[in-house]
Amino acid sequence: MQDPELRKNQLLRELPSVDKLLLALPDSVAEYGAQAVTQAARRALQQARDSILHDEPLETTPAALKQRITCHLTAETLPSLKPVFNLTGTVLHTNLGRAVMPLSAVEAIVTVATQYSNLEFDLASGKRGDRETHVEQLICEFTGAEAATVVNNNAAAVLLVLNTLAMNKEVPVSRGELVEIGGSFRIPEVMQRANCTLVEVGSTNRTHLKDYREAINEQTALLMKVHTSNYRVEGFTKEVTEAELSQLSSEFGIPFVMDLGSGSLVDFVKLGLPAEPTAAWTLERGADLITFSGDKLLGGPQSGLIAGRKDLIDRIKKNPLKRALRLDKMTLAGMAEVLKLYRDPASLTQKLPTLRYLTRSQADIRDQARRILPVLSQTLGDKYHVTVVDTTSQVGSGSLPTETLPSTSLSISPVSGGDEALKPLVVQLRELDRPMIGRIHRGALLFDLRCLDDEDVLVSQLQLLAL
Ligand SMILES: *Cc1c(COP(=O)(O)O)cnc(C)c1O
Repeated sequence: MQDPELRKNQLLRELPSVDKLLLALPDSVAEYGAQAVTQAARRALQQARDSILHDEPLETTPAALKQRITCHLTAETLPSLKPVFNLTGTVLHTNLGRAVMPLSAVEAIVTVATQYSNLEFDLASGKRGDRETHVEQLICEFTGAEAATVVNNNAAAVLLVLNTLAMNKEVPVSRGELVEIGGSFRIPEVMQRANCTLVEVGSTNRTHLKDYREAINEQTALLMKVHTSNYRVEGFTKEVTEAELSQLSSEFGIPFVMDLGSGSLVDFVKLGLPAEPTAAWTLERGADLITFSGDKLLGGPQSGLIAGRKDLIDRIKKNPLKRALRLDKMTLAGMAEVLKLYRDPASLTQKLPTLRYLTRSQADIRDQARRILPVLSQTLGDKYHVTVVDTTSQVGSGSLPTETLPSTSLSISPVSGGDEALKPLVVQLRELDRPMIGRIHRGALLFDLRCLDDEDVLVSQLQLLAL
């Protein structure tokens, strides 16, 4: 038996040089360039040395090294941001990219991204134009607002409204509405950064009109109401309505601002969905300004919309912060196309993916689950039970927190071993070309099919999978 130290040294000495590997990979050099192949070769050699020194079983022959180099090179050229199957049952999932865009909007984005455009150029006069003319009228059309403006997201919209209208002044907000959204957006912190003073009124569960009235003084800039979009206070509760706050704010000659969060543009009840205040409804109830997200219920690109009184919108547009928060041409192009879909409410639930997912019937989802069941059972073999179960989906992104939509899932449970036995499978399904992301509930992995469009892609991926 050879001395292990001598054997290690021999293996290390036998490793080829970077130059030699490069010469042996002419095709890769042609495709990726010598520099990238050199880097990949150095990485592969380092891995090989480490494995030899730590007695790890890794093949270090030139053929194995070459294979690892090409693997590194292909992995590096694949996009890190890629499609996944959202089988979580949450339609607007912030971690999975929120709203899925309609193809018509994506085509408009490609057009403006790959060519020059009249982004800020008025073709009628030949003079400088305003980039927001491409969406402002559309927003007004579907909200009933006099004027509108757009920024990067709703957090930016709230920040900009407060900074413009309430800098160095006070803003009373109900204690029941001091919400945190997604861990990084908290109303009190945004207020602080906007340089205004939050005046908490009422209590967590009950706030009365007189609480607001008592909080108003000459330092008060505006009244603000926040849609408690991701939780609900239930039981002995009282909140002041939009109409009451509008009346009170006019009495004192200050604006009333409502942060809607999701801000739907269509009546959800008419679509057979749980009620959600629409943008138009809120403005009709007397809000002077509303703010809402573009990529929640609206179903468009990430953005924040501000709509309402023209004199207030004009002031907001002049705030220097506006320039830092402005939308890019691609988002504007996508938003315009998404908004145009609202002109035909009858086809909206087919053309806009978010509304199509939300309105999908349980019967339709169940049929799909039954079609996929045999393929999934066959792939997973006899270590797992696969069944079709009725479950509930959620709207997500803080919309309609307590309402659920009847749905159907494929449920995978290990024949023995409980949650622990499920974990390797969850990891394996996440490592697929198109990762399958579900949720674990009571010892079973659930795949809610509400948002599954590419059934054939999922099925062929499963058929190729060897477990
Ligand atoms: C989601 C939400 C926000 C933040 O919106 P983003 O578009 O994610 O920045 C702010 N306020 C409320 C009430 C929300 O629901």
